[in-house]
Parts: sequence; structure tokens; C-alpha cells
Amino acid sequence: MTAPPVLELARAQVLDRGIGLGEEQVLEVLCLPDEAVQEALQVAHEVRMRWCGPEVEVEGIVSIKTGGCPEDCHFCSQSGRFETPVRAVRLDIPSLVEAACETAATGATEFCLVAAVRGPDARLMAQVRDAMRAIHDAVEINVACSLGILTRQQAEELAQLGVHRYNHNLETARSYFPQIATTHTWDERFQTLALVREHGMEVCCGGIVGMGESLAQRAEFAAQLAGLGPDEVPLNFLDPRPGTPFAGLAPVSTADALRAIAAFRLALPRTVLRFAGGRELTLGDVGTRQGVLGGINAIIVGNYLTTLGRDPQADLDLLQELSMPVRALSETL
Ligand code: SF4
Repeated sequence: MTAPPVLELARAQVLDRGIGLGEEQVLEVLCLPDEAVQEALQVAHEVRMRWCGPEVEVEGIVSIKTGGCPEDCHFCSQSGRFETPVRAVRLDIPSLVEAACETAATGATEFCLVAAVRGPDARLMAQVRDAMRAIHDAVEINVACSLGILTRQQAEELAQLGVHRYNHNLETARSYFPQIATTHTWDERFQTLALVREHGMEVCCGGIVGMGESLAQRAEFAAQLAGLGPDEVPLNFLDPRPGTPFAGLAPVSTADALRAIAAFRLALPRTVLRFAGGRELTLGDVGTRQGVLGGINAIIVGNYLTTLGRDPQADLDLLQELSMPVRALSETL
């Protein structure tokens, strides 16, 4: 079988020159027939190996404040506006330090503090301040934060505290965002990302595939991320949570998820592309392997925020089997 023209183009443009595919070409990849998916993953894998190398970045996350969020993101079981089984909880500093040490022991280089909030208030900023100091005293690991929409002053303070990377997802295409949240806008999220970059922190920004967006909007989103140029893109697949407005949506099919992985890698040849939530549901064990051989070069170990992930050892064993070394801390500092 001859390769589809878009994959020939991807070899010449993305693999050879490191220039990501544009929106129209990304859409073509998202529309490839099932028979061409393996070849798309193969090209995406070669792109990742050429422009990022074989290392895989391993990251742990911990929720410092779970549930009770005032926002209404329709996919999120942490919104206080929906009747979901998630209850509001805050973690204390010793528990955070313990989680950071456990994460570092897996070989992970990033440890991300996540809070379910619109943006941090004074109490949360004080908790982050204390946590940053205690973690840095206890263990050598990069600390990232995901605390929602920031003010300029908060971005400045987080940078001064030594936050290495800040996560704030655009979640979906700008044109589709009003269908997933009404309490804030895509542009407000974008402004926070600009502040993060301005203050010298690495930008981590991704989203969720399978929230009812069209394939054209999926391609639009990939192109918008490419325009932003984040250091890391967490790629999630919707795991429809009970009680949320998106509870009734069907999970993305495995073939569509694999097309999305290949397409996002071909749009973003140099970024850290991370498997985040929903991969167990959408891809299972076989798909996880295909993803890591199809352009993914970062994983979260252990549990996600409100759903259980895979056993960390299973992921680490898989990386070893595939001869993909875990990226060392010294390479990221
Ligand atoms: S702002 Fe974050 S925690 Fe709050 S509802 Fe939206 S996704 Fe969930």
C-alpha cells in the first residue's frame, strides 16, 4: 500500500525539517482510514525519536485541594456544581512531602501540585509556599503547579518560589470552549499561559479529546497548541464521569485515540507529549504501548486526580522493555 499523501508530507516536513503539520494536514491525519493508523503512528514515533530523543519524562501528581471548585467545566467531577462522588479534601504539608518522596523514588523528575480552583486565593498561595519549601528541603525533584487562573502578582510569586513548570490546559479548541464551560473563557486561560511564560516558568498546556468536538475542532485545537508552543502537552481522553454533564458521552474509540496521538505529535514535533488521564479506558494496555511507540514521550505514574491510573511499575517495566530510558533530573534542571 502506498502511503497516504499527508504522511509523505509529514516525512518531508516534520521528520526531516522539524516543522509541524498545519491545521488542514492535522485534520487529514485525524481522518485517515484504519489501515493507515499504524503508519501514522510509525511516522509520529520517528518524529519523536528524531526531535525529542528516546527519553521518557515521568511525572507524579498530587491533589492539594480536591473537589468543590466553583467553575462548571462539563467534564470535571471536581466541580462543586454537579452531583458527583468527589468530596472536597485538602492535603496537609507532611502528606505532600511524602507523596513527593514516593514520586521521586520511581525515577520521576516532575512533581505537580494540583488544586481544583478557579484560581488560587491567599490561603492556597500560603499552602503552596509552605509545600514548595518543605519539598525542596526533603527531596530533589522539579515542582510544577496547576492552580488555575493566575494574576500577574501570583505568577511572579510562583516563579520566585522556584516553580519549574505551570500547567493550565486550554482543554479544547477555542471555537468549542463555550460548550464545555460557561464560568470562564478560553481567552482567560490563554492569558494565564502568557503570564507563566513571561515569568520564565515552563508552559504545560493540553486538553481533552472526545468531549463532543468535531474532528475539525480537534485539528483546530492542535494548531492552537502549536501556535502557543508549550514545553509540555498533556493529552487526555475523556473519561465520562458520573454526575457531570458529559457523563453520557461515549469514550473515544481506540483507533480515534491513536489517530489523535499521531496527529498531535505531527503538529508538535518538539514538545513533551504526555499521556494523561483516560488512557486506561480508551487504550488499555495494548494502546498504551502503541501510544508510547507513536509519539508519546512522557507519562504520569500512579493515580490521577479523581480516577485510578495504572500501577507505576507496569509503566516503568514497559519503558524498560522498549529501551526508553526515564529522563534524568540533571537533564531537566
Ligand atoms: S476549573 Fe479545573 S477543577 Fe474547576 S471545574 Fe474546571 S477543570 Fe474542574
